Amino acid sequence: MTDTGHDRRQRASSAKRRIALELVLLGVLIAAVWAQPSWRRAAWDSASAAATWVAHELLGWSDRQLYMRRLKLAGLADAPAVRAWDKAPETARAQSALGRAPLRLEFSATETRAGVYTLDVAPGQTIAWRLTPRAGAGPVFASLEQRSGADDDWHYRASITADDQIHSLDVDQPARYRFVIQPRLFEAFAGTLQVRVGGQLGMPVVGAHAYDIGGGFGAARDGGARRHQGVDIFADAGTPVTAVVDGRVHQRSGGLGGKAIFLSAGLTRPRYYYAHLSAFTTADGARVKVGDVIGRVGATGNAAGGAPHLHFGIYSLGGAVDPAPYIRPRPDLSRLD
Ligand SMILES: [Zn+2]
Repeated sequence: MTDTGHDRRQRASSAKRRIALELVLLGVLIAAVWAQPSWRRAAWDSASAAATWVAHELLGWSDRQLYMRRLKLAGLADAPAVRAWDKAPETARAQSALGRAPLRLEFSATETRAGVYTLDVAPGQTIAWRLTPRAGAGPVFASLEQRSGADDDWHYRASITADDQIHSLDVDQPARYRFVIQPRLFEAFAGTLQVRVGGQLGMPVVGAHAYDIGGGFGAARDGGARRHQGVDIFADAGTPVTAVVDGRVHQRSGGLGGKAIFLSAGLTRPRYYYAHLSAFTTADGARVKVGDVIGRVGATGNAAGGAPHLHFGIYSLGGAVDPAPYIRPRPDLSRLD
């Protein structure tokens, strides 16, 4: 069929009708949104949520920085109280974030102080926290910030909500971290902050502790011919060993490792190596969940004749990494109070 002038005119006029209809619909929607306070509120909330998302995700600003920018836009940048409030995290006397008791937070409306709580964390560890507002407390700015070198600036890493819930962050590079807590200018806040650091994986041998680890990562083996690419966790023969991640079990027998397992969670994820086992407790190729028993401690392979132990290694895409920070106990905030 050929394209006639009549068809073209008809398409052009139907496009015009559609545009007119869309404009009318848009007008009706705008009128409805402004007529209905609840709809107006929802429209405003989603617009401000979008602006907050842009600030956090694209610009890397914390809520605190966003608030400071608003104060500056309002022409208040040079007011002494605003300047003191802005500099408060840098002038604060930092305390350790890791104490036995929860950190007590108490800010009056007349001070411009910020609370700064620091901790050093190794790759393989996880930071867990819970910020609990006292009943009736107002909003508060709280963020987790990170600094990699001594001269480096602090960088916003995560927003902390005062929701009395447990949150956590896995750490993948050595860094100093700090929690910065500060109410808005001329507002008060009271509550508690609990912080714990632990391993991302937890111990793969049931009942074992940090003092059961002998033979650290990187120690010389075979007269310096090779380096120890894992840690040795000593335990009685037959003690269950468990999966540190959800994944698939690949069993091996023979060689230095004796009865050994590679546990893998995917091609791009690290592989976890369990060696010198006395027994396997799943089928080869089985899918397992975190905490499932996958074998038993033994002294097979080149451990034969020595003390039973689990040799545990972590192989990331970049090679073997030190498992020690990973297998520390998981951070536990439930034991506090
Ligand atoms: Zn070993």
